[in-house]
Amino acid sequence: MKEISKTYDHEKVEKALYAKWEKAGYFKPEINPDGEPFTIIMPPPNANGSLHVGHAVFVTLEDIMTRYARLQGKAALWLPGADHAGFETQSVFEKKLEKEGRSRFKMPREQLYEETLKFTLENKEIMEGQLRRLGASCDWSREKFTLDPAIIKIIYKTFVKLYEDGLAYRDVRPVNWCTKHQTSLSELEVKYEEQTDPLYYIKYKVESRKSEVESHIIVATVRPETIFGDTAIAVNPNDKRFVELVGSRAQIPLTDIEIPIIADDMVDPKFGTGVVKITPAHDPNDFEAGRRHNLETREVIDQYGRLNDKTGPFAGLKILESRRQVVEAMEKKGLIEKIDQNYVHSVGKCYKCGTVIEPRILPQWFIAMDKKGKKSGKNLAKDAITVVKNKEVSFVTPKFEKIFNHWMKNIRDWNISRQIVWGIRLPVWYKKSKFVISNEVEKSQGRQDPRALLEPPTGGLAMAQDDKSVYVGIEPPKDIENWEQDADVFDTWFSSGQWPFAALKAEETRNKKQETNDFDKFYPTAVMETGWDILFFWVARMIMLGIYITDEVPFKNVYLHGLVRDKDRMKMSKSKGNVINPLGVSDEYGADAVRMALVFGTSAGNDAVISEEKIRGMRNFSNKIWNASRFVILRVTEGDLQTGQIGAIRTDDLTIDSKDLTAADKKIIQSHTEIIEYVSHKLDKYQFNQAGEDLYEYFWHTFCDDYIEIAKTQLDDDKTAETTKKILIKILSESLVLLHPFMPFVTEAVWQELRQVYTKLPDSVMIAKWPRK
Ligand SMILES: [Zn+2]
Repeated sequence: MKEISKTYDHEKVEKALYAKWEKAGYFKPEINPDGEPFTIIMPPPNANGSLHVGHAVFVTLEDIMTRYARLQGKAALWLPGADHAGFETQSVFEKKLEKEGRSRFKMPREQLYEETLKFTLENKEIMEGQLRRLGASCDWSREKFTLDPAIIKIIYKTFVKLYEDGLAYRDVRPVNWCTKHQTSLSELEVKYEEQTDPLYYIKYKVESRKSEVESHIIVATVRPETIFGDTAIAVNPNDKRFVELVGSRAQIPLTDIEIPIIADDMVDPKFGTGVVKITPAHDPNDFEAGRRHNLETREVIDQYGRLNDKTGPFAGLKILESRRQVVEAMEKKGLIEKIDQNYVHSVGKCYKCGTVIEPRILPQWFIAMDKKGKKSGKNLAKDAITVVKNKEVSFVTPKFEKIFNHWMKNIRDWNISRQIVWGIRLPVWYKKSKFVISNEVEKSQGRQDPRALLEPPTGGLAMAQDDKSVYVGIEPPKDIENWEQDADVFDTWFSSGQWPFAALKAEETRNKKQETNDFDKFYPTAVMETGWDILFFWVARMIMLGIYITDEVPFKNVYLHGLVRDKDRMKMSKSKGNVINPLGVSDEYGADAVRMALVFGTSAGNDAVISEEKIRGMRNFSNKIWNASRFVILRVTEGDLQTGQIGAIRTDDLTIDSKDLTAADKKIIQSHTEIIEYVSHKLDKYQFNQAGEDLYEYFWHTFCDDYIEIAKTQLDDDKTAETTKKILIKILSESLVLLHPFMPFVTEAVWQELRQVYTKLPDSVMIAKWPRK
């Protein structure tokens, strides 16, 4: 009789099986050379830490899709990658430096870059090992990193095209500045939070033209410390209360500076007193008003969030402290009318460190989102809205289509300059001696030496004087000695936004000799699967840049998954102590159990709930599969099997004659046909949870509990034994294929045992054929 171990030991088999698959080349699409291409570009995990349970969700879902496509005979490519993750990684690395008592602001650019690169590459290697541990059947031979030279070249090409098309431009505009991280951030990197703060009603003295007008007006503001940067007072032109005042002047409290009173539609007569102060250097709306009325931009807060020397005795104070002291000084002089302590408003904070964002006026590079390219005629946002409307890109969960459209219709130009070192440096050079600090910056910040501002690590604040003194190109200018490169790097999403076509095109470059045609063959990709929280950061930008560069959508479907929560539906966090480390539980219960637990009960767009009990339950399912298979294998080996026969019947031919079937046989064959149909349908519709849950029920209860119990009797009866063996083999082998995308390891382990008694089976369940009803 054949030997087969009594219990399933995932620890013994999982790593070994993965190595065997990889060595055999099963992860490559070439395993099905004539198959229809099916591509998933892996969302490249940030190479700055270990994989968490959220990563395990994407690995599981994408691996299910890839293995299913491969079993259907498709040329399935799941292309893995790693993301340098610019600001994200830099902030992780900065924390590490802080712990060591060091600071990135005291390091030369090259050294900081080299150290961050080393840190990133170490993490990348760990992460790749973890992806393998979870069973990811991605093609490692095609792996890409966002800092590969071939990728950088593609990113540069896109930027140059956008520049020549008039869609990438440099402008002096209000940007979101984090005073801790010392960089600007995009709109998406600012987290808005409701907050209750005092609203101060401040008296500004007015020089009135008519005696009946009061001697002062009241301005309501939450930021009294910025009064030194006021360059006008504004009222609504239709507000009869103040119409008389327009054209006269007001005096900034605590100073003798006089500013004009102007009329502008942006003023809401219902807010506060209907009179607002205009501080162009510290408020984006005020900046626009300043441009409309030709007002001076007077910066009074520096890049570190301290008041500067334009604020007299308050210079050097941090914002909150200066607010307290400015209010105190005004109260002493009777300049505060009242304070509303319960003013609720929304405050923008750095999404990484929570520091309140300080709007600053800086020259930066922007991408025009809703503008027609002068050469291409393309419009990034509008073209993206169109392909979604035409279902060229479909969202598996329709609610996300609505959210996408709303955001795209209200999109603002994208600031892509980051004043950090870690990333892809802008391919922009300014002519030495010809670049200047823009007027606004110079005037407001009083900076004299523009070159000093180009020194790392804080970035390029330079403006070219004219078109001839700026150079944008894939290669540096030939007379490089006459040029100075912009110190900034791209927002990391600018490179990851090009990932699907960049990853495939870069493969072509690398593999030119082998004449692979990856871009032509695998683009557009089948599906983009990622977390819904990066719908705008990433998915929207991939659609925009993908169409812009390739004229095609980057993917046909978008599957967005939710967060992973604990059994009480709480968000996982280190402080709550409810974090599940996917690698730890994989070692304890097996990767199959973790994967199945993540799929169970989790539909597209919704949060996943996971607990150790749930994982343990799935480990029991692994054991059930093993034990049931063991029974089948042991029973069918009773007979002349070494010649490839089950009993007297050749196993090569599992044709079952219906006249030999018992009622139980008929029932299981019917259920089996149904489950094949159901699971295929559900997988086609991305309803992985339903497919997984029904398979579980079917295998455990219909096959094991019901049929195998009856089969025990049928095997003892000579009249039914042979047919029963055939049915057991057929149902078991096909069930292993159905279960394989969800639980790749245990199904393969059983398959290898089964192959010894039924030699007709393919070498691996991975490359078997998806059963047909
Ligand atoms: Zn920050």
